[in-house]
Amino acid sequence: ESALYVVATPIGNLGDMVPRAVEILQGVDVIAAEDTRHSARLLDHFHISTPMVAYHDHTDEGRTRNMVERIAAGESVALISDAGTPLVSDPGYRLVRLAREAGVKVIPVPGACAMVAALSASGLPSDRFTFEGFLPAKSGQRQNTLKPLAKEPRTMVFYEAPHRIEACLADMAEIFGLDREAVLARELTKTFETIVSAPLSELQTFVASDANQRKGEIVVLVRGHAGPTKDAGLDPEAERIMSVLLKELP
Ligand code: SAM
Repeated sequence: ESALYVVATPIGNLGDMVPRAVEILQGVDVIAAEDTRHSARLLDHFHISTPMVAYHDHTDEGRTRNMVERIAAGESVALISDAGTPLVSDPGYRLVRLAREAGVKVIPVPGACAMVAALSASGLPSDRFTFEGFLPAKSGQRQNTLKPLAKEPRTMVFYEAPHRIEACLADMAEIFGLDREAVLARELTKTFETIVSAPLSELQTFVASDANQRKGEIVVLVRGHAGPTKDAGLDPEAERIMSVLLKELP
């Protein structure tokens, strides 16, 4: 079927490649990949010989349009990124946007995503959460991004580079407080997978004391701010009845 398929690939463990992803990558006319050299290894492993083209969000508008036109004309294209789900801190937004605007069918093929994997094993509240992606690289900008999140009640999920993890935890401790519960999820699905929950101050010590914790791929999750509990108040109907009754009082 002519469509743009948005295909998730593993985040480390090749066993996480879903059969439908293999089928679709084999069947499409072309695979648009973030880094064709990187993805060549994945395709090789699954004996997929579909031609690849490079795609990232800086790809010029003309080429993106051209790709959409080709799908509209009957070709099928699969979009993949280096790891996990495309568009999640990865390229693809402009292509998907243009495709949908052009009335081209966009079909997701779900699979691994570091954010979801980390959240699912974190033990932090997962009924509501906010994905913040990568924080700015410079401390000043990072703090400015974190400040408005100090009172955020939902669990927060961040991606962080290993060489910045110490500085990032320091800024988080400063803004969220030393006691705020956080989770470091490192090397998910891989040999050295580590998931540690602790107050930010303890996570800082943990990462500072072991160089291995400053390597690999990392998701940081922070528990939301525990404000005054909602249960303390009355529900709107009770509130309404109260105000009616109060008016009747002498
Ligand atoms: N699209 C990907 C996804 O679905 O998760 C994310 C791509 S983003 C460029 C890469 C970042 O995701 C890494 O720096 C790290 O923060 C996180 N990440 C990817 N794979 C991971 C893994 N196996 N364990 C922990 N974090 C991972």
